[in-house]
Amino acid sequence: MTDLPADAVDIAILGGGAAGALVARHLLARRGVRVAVVEPRGTAGLGAAYSTVRPEHLLNVNAARMSAFQDEPDDFLGFLAARRGVAPADLAGVFAPRRDYGAYLEDRLAAVVAQTGLDLRSTCALDVQAGAEGYSIRLADGHTLAARAVVLALGNLPAALPAPVHGVPASATVEAWDYPAIAAIDPAHDVAIVGAGLSMVDTLLTLQANGHRGRIVAVSRHGLMPLAHAPGTRPQPGGVDALLPLGVRARMRLLRQWAAEAEARGGRWQDALERLRPHVQALWQAWPVHEQQRFLRHAVRLWDIHRHRIAPEVGERIAALQADGRFRLHAGRLDAIASTPDARLRVGWRPRGGMDRRHVIVDRVVNATGAEKRVARAAGPLLPALLARGLVRPGPHAIGIDTDASGQVLGADGLPVPGLWTLGALRTGTLWESVAMPELRGQAAGLAEAALAGIDARR
Ligand SMILES: Cc1cc2nc3c(=O)[nH]c(=O)nc-3n(C[C@H](O)[C@H](O)[C@H](O)COP(=O)(O)OP(=O)(O)OC[C@H]3O[C@@H](n4cnc5c(N)ncnc54)[C@H](O)[C@@H]3O)c2cc1C
Repeated sequence: MTDLPADAVDIAILGGGAAGALVARHLLARRGVRVAVVEPRGTAGLGAAYSTVRPEHLLNVNAARMSAFQDEPDDFLGFLAARRGVAPADLAGVFAPRRDYGAYLEDRLAAVVAQTGLDLRSTCALDVQAGAEGYSIRLADGHTLAARAVVLALGNLPAALPAPVHGVPASATVEAWDYPAIAAIDPAHDVAIVGAGLSMVDTLLTLQANGHRGRIVAVSRHGLMPLAHAPGTRPQPGGVDALLPLGVRARMRLLRQWAAEAEARGGRWQDALERLRPHVQALWQAWPVHEQQRFLRHAVRLWDIHRHRIAPEVGERIAALQADGRFRLHAGRLDAIASTPDARLRVGWRPRGGMDRRHVIVDRVVNATGAEKRVARAAGPLLPALLARGLVRPGPHAIGIDTDASGQVLGADGLPVPGLWTLGALRTGTLWESVAMPELRGQAAGLAEAALAGIDARR
């Protein structure tokens, strides 16, 4: 031991969203492991998804399937039931507010932190430098943190608006994940939302909850919105082996056939999606690179709206907003956002499949383009610094970063970097399905074990 100071921690987790909090929870449960979490929100467990305090923002998975622990499948259900004073069985099909889930993760981490302590740094990590025995992490608060191993739990990278913005004051554009800023939008204002995924849904729900009277339009490249869960969905029986050898088109054809069969039996098309949900990683990895590219070019949006579904009651609320004309969704590619002489905003786009140009004049633009998958476009200094140092390399299709099967990061030379780990969204290129709780909880438990074993091996 030469290059690590005496106050070095065993493992530094960069990012304290759901993933970082779960890794910390598993490590601390082992006792005697010194753990630091670096998270600018100043609390671990919330991250982008669960830091909303808005009651209208619901989980998109029912409570029975949201346990943070694989070996305790009813853990979230039990937490929620105790909080509401009802029987767990009454809540199994409920889509709970996401703020309740944030409270759950904070609670489960606090239970171990009370016994062991946690070095929580309320700041951002700017850079990581490798030494012989570990890492030196430069923090935005001016301090340096030393650690034997580092976990990159950076989660969903915010995406920039996909068009030039001319002369528009910063206050006129609002990020969809900035929940207080969305809630503060004047109900009389006209609003344009860029993007039509789950973040757009969040925005619409908050505007509606605040009695929005202004016009609301959304522009997205495909003009497709997330579809809703169907109450009582059951996974269709049968394996997915038949899908494994097929390319994109043939898989979609078979999937449509399964959906039709489910409906013919009195079920729902969602039953067919549930049938393959646990096998998505295997299905992705079974494709050669060119087939994955074909999926990314032609099918990804269609996949997303079927896979990332919203609560049935949320689907009904959005449909009602569309039906009474308060909300309109346009399919097109954003051209530019510019200010008008009367200090409003002109949002222009080219309609999908057309040559003409359209525009709308609004008071606010909401960036609801969701997560940035391409690591080279990531905002903030940390990932560019790691790329420049060769500590990470872009993942397949330049999505996220490259890892081995255990989540150990592969450096520029393609070899595992000792003591450097990641999980969640940064593994999307390798695994495709890597951001929802069923994947995160498994990755967090496995990574904690592997990272500790790696430290022991390096001692
Ligand atoms: C709006 C939304 C709703 C969702 N709903 C569900 C759901 O209902 N069910 C489900 O299973 N999944 C849901 N998800 C998926 C979600 O991605 C995961 O459930 C989970 O929240 C991801 O956690 P994470 O820690 O990987 O990422 P994040 O929540 O993005 O957390 C990453 C954290 O890293 C921090 N960070 C980033 N850069 C740095 C840095 N340089 N230094 C220090 N800290 C840094 C950020 O501040 C952030 O808090 C949702 C996602 C979103 C965005």
